[in-house]
Amino acid sequence: MYNLSVVLEDSARTDPDRTALVAGGTRLSYAEVDAAANQVANLLVTYGVGPGDRVALSCPNLPQFPIVYFGILKVGAVVVPLNVLNKSREVAYYLDDSSAVALFCFEGTEELPIGRYGLEGARAAAAPPRVVMMTADPSAASPDPEVPTLAEVLEGMEETFSTVQRRETDTAVVLYTSGTTGQPKGAELSHSNQLMNALTCHRLFGSRPGEDTHLVALPLFHTFGATVDMNAGFSMGATLVLLPRFDAEQALALLLEHRATVFAGVPTMWWGLLHAVEDDAAAGALAETLRLGVSGGAPLPVEILTAARERLGISIMEGYGLSETSPVACFSRADRPRPGSIGFPVWGVEVGIIDPGDPDWAPIEEADVVGEIVVRGHNVMTGYLDRPGATAAVIRDGWFRTGDLGRRDAEGFYFVVDRSKDMIVRGGYNVYPREVEEVLITHPDVSLAAVVGVPHEALGEEVKAFVILEQGAALTAEGLRDWAKEQMASYKYPREVVLLDSLPMTATGKILKRELS
Ligand code: ATP
Repeated sequence: MYNLSVVLEDSARTDPDRTALVAGGTRLSYAEVDAAANQVANLLVTYGVGPGDRVALSCPNLPQFPIVYFGILKVGAVVVPLNVLNKSREVAYYLDDSSAVALFCFEGTEELPIGRYGLEGARAAAAPPRVVMMTADPSAASPDPEVPTLAEVLEGMEETFSTVQRRETDTAVVLYTSGTTGQPKGAELSHSNQLMNALTCHRLFGSRPGEDTHLVALPLFHTFGATVDMNAGFSMGATLVLLPRFDAEQALALLLEHRATVFAGVPTMWWGLLHAVEDDAAAGALAETLRLGVSGGAPLPVEILTAARERLGISIMEGYGLSETSPVACFSRADRPRPGSIGFPVWGVEVGIIDPGDPDWAPIEEADVVGEIVVRGHNVMTGYLDRPGATAAVIRDGWFRTGDLGRRDAEGFYFVVDRSKDMIVRGGYNVYPREVEEVLITHPDVSLAAVVGVPHEALGEEVKAFVILEQGAALTAEGLRDWAKEQMASYKYPREVVLLDSLPMTATGKILKRELS
């Protein structure tokens, strides 16, 4: 019996005065964060929220996020983090699908009225949550004065709480998939799934208690930030500097100001950061303090890996995983770098390659054969909430089908080739967008590239590239297409190239390929 909240409680007990959170001008110690989470737990008890109840949380990277998150866990309830970009209709869907009994929602801003969407969503839900509360940003106006703010209701609440212990397989968190294949499904992650993954990161990162400062740019409502920054960071008494919305210049300024030692980001964040480091002085200052760079969530282009090594002197560790795998399944190692590889399965986790068409899911033992990546171990979710059919389709004998294509080389290094749903079939030939992107960005004028398949009458699909050029570059779309033609087999090179100033991104910073066509 234990509770994932131990990652916070243990540091609050052993290092109470150490700074846990920094957000703008606010600094909170571990003791303060734990006490506030205890108040949330006491509050939930007064509303009759208890073990197994699901509580939704819609909040950007502000102190309220971890405070409410751990408050929910402490009563044995289940956290349902919501993407802050959700509109009312989506909020209503998640509340109903998870049968959430409560919703904590950040007020938001004029341009992103998270609170308004939250309240409208709660009202539109078929079974509205019985508790709705704003998380109280002092600078924001409440979208409805009738709805209480956390600050108001927490006043006078007890700061101690006796945490409800759970069985290791009990659900701690429900994470919704993005729903690119049908309705979004809630992945149920247990206390053990999440705790083991946090400790796995802790071990991989070579962290020493109380010595690290993370700049937290990844949204905490997403599995990557929640595990790599929050749960792993808290478990080792790190200081988390919260950045509510990624902006490369601001991230760089905060990294330098707080002498951050750890930065984890999706590849587009690394790309932005490396572009923001304009002069050698900034690069030198960053190289002096940053000891660990982590990338995940999408393929890390080798160009970015190399630039980070050359400019900042760090070897970015690349992790691979999904919401359904807590998330980490593989990690590269700084001491055995292999550009383009996601390294090896992490301890206690097995990774295999199967033929996606094989009904027996038989492991392919041969090296360098491309197939679907399957994962088994302590990180695999217990299932999709209330969807036994969808769960049975992806989990068998403990093996989870990721929907990603990959390969293992003769030395045991794993590589993600692409998502199977992103693979382009052009006139019967398989084209992996990632491979084309990696070639395009080796052109000196190309800064970032995203390749997708678009419908084609005769060929089924055609390869199309969306490209951001380096500032001031004079390259034309035709010029790039002609260059690409010389670099790769004729069935692969993009017949269509579109030059853009920016690419659509998810809230996590992943390139939103389904919006490119
Ligand atoms: P969806 O729910 O549609 O699967 P998502 O991006 O919201 O998309 P996540 O669980 O956040 O879902 O992301 C998991 C996916 O991210 C993996 O299936 C994989 O395609 C991709 N991914 C994660 N890490 C890496 C990596 N290091 N290299 C390549 N791809 C990666």
